[in-house]
Amino acid sequence: MAEETAAINPAERLKLGPREGVTYPLVVQYCGNCTMPLEYCEYYPEFEKCRAWLEKHLPSEFEQMKIKDEASGADGTDDDKKRQKRGGKGMMKIKKKEDVPKKITVSRAPRGKKKSVTVVTGLNTFDIDLKVAAKFFGTKFACGSSVTGEDEIVIQGDVKDDLFDVIPEKWPEIDEDYIDDLGDQKR
Ligand SMILES: [Zn+2]
Repeated sequence: MAEETAAINPAERLKLGPREGVTYPLVVQYCGNCTMPLEYCEYYPEFEKCRAWLEKHLPSEFEQMKIKDEASGADGTDDDKKRQKRGGKGMMKIKKKEDVPKKITVSRAPRGKKKSVTVVTGLNTFDIDLKVAAKFFGTKFACGSSVTGEDEIVIQGDVKDDLFDVIPEKWPEIDEDYIDDLGDQKR
C-alpha cells in the first residue's frame, strides 16, 4: 500500500488535477539569467551564469541543484577525465608503436666451428635498458653477454630457445608472441 502512494504510475502522471503528495499551488521557479524554469537551466549554454544567479537569488534551489550534480554529474565528469587520461596514454603508446614496432627477434649465429652465439634485438622497443638486460642474460645463462648495437645484445652461447621462456618471465609485458625466431643467421 505504502509503495503505491509513493510511486506515481504513468496513468496518475497523465491525470489532470491535484496529485497525491504534491503541495499546491505549484510554484514554478524561473531563472533570472535564462528566464527558463529552473529545471531547464542545465541545458542553457550559459549554465554557469544560471548557477551564479541561482546561488545569489535562490540559494536553496541552488543547493538542491548542487546535490543533484554531485549525485550524477560530478561522478560522470570524473569518469570522463579518467577515460580521457587512459585514452591519451593509449594513443601515445599506439603512436610509439607506429614509430618503432614492438618486436623482439632472437637468432643463432655461428661462432667459430662448433660454438654459437645468440643475438637478441628489439628489447629497446619495450623500453628495456640494454645494459641491464645484457647483464641479466649473462647471469642467467652464466656466459658472456654484451650490448653490441643500438638495440642488439649478443649472448655467448646457444640459448635462443630458452629466451622464449626467460624473456617473458623477466619482463612480463613481453608476451612470447612478440618474440620472433629468426633461426640461424650469419653475422
Ligand atoms: Zn537559467
